[in-house]
Amino acid sequence: MSECIFCKIANGEIPSAALFEDEKFRVILDLGPASRGHALILPKAHYADIYEIPGELAAEAMVLAKKMAVKMTEVLKCDGFNIVQNNGEVAGQTVFHFHMHLIPRYEGDNVAL
Ligand code: 5GP
Ligand code: ZN
Repeated sequence: MSECIFCKIANGEIPSAALFEDEKFRVILDLGPASRGHALILPKAHYADIYEIPGELAAEAMVLAKKMAVKMTEVLKCDGFNIVQNNGEVAGQTVFHFHMHLIPRYEGDNVAL
């Protein structure tokens, strides 16, 4: 998927500061954050959405989301946390490479999801 921006970011073809990286995932800050610290979990392999991604990898992404939520809550001292994952234009997906949103929430932040 040479034209996929998240493939390029996840695999380091486009440089980005990673909050976390291993052989399967890269976690980056969202370019248009909904809140302070809004991050994205990107699998390095290309799958468009929840329909395409293998269940095992989706499960690993969720385990990583849990770890990131705990760590980010500690570091950012947020008051709550949303984990969001959009599939299809009608559901608000704009980048068609599977990703999970990690959205720290703060008292009174009024974030609309
Ligand atoms: P979606 O709407 O597909 O669930 O989420 C796509 C997210 O990717 C949006 O929150 C948007 O701000 C973010 N985004 C789009 N392009 C880039 C990019 O080039 N770099 C980063 N870091 N985030 C991006
Ligand atoms: Zn991709």
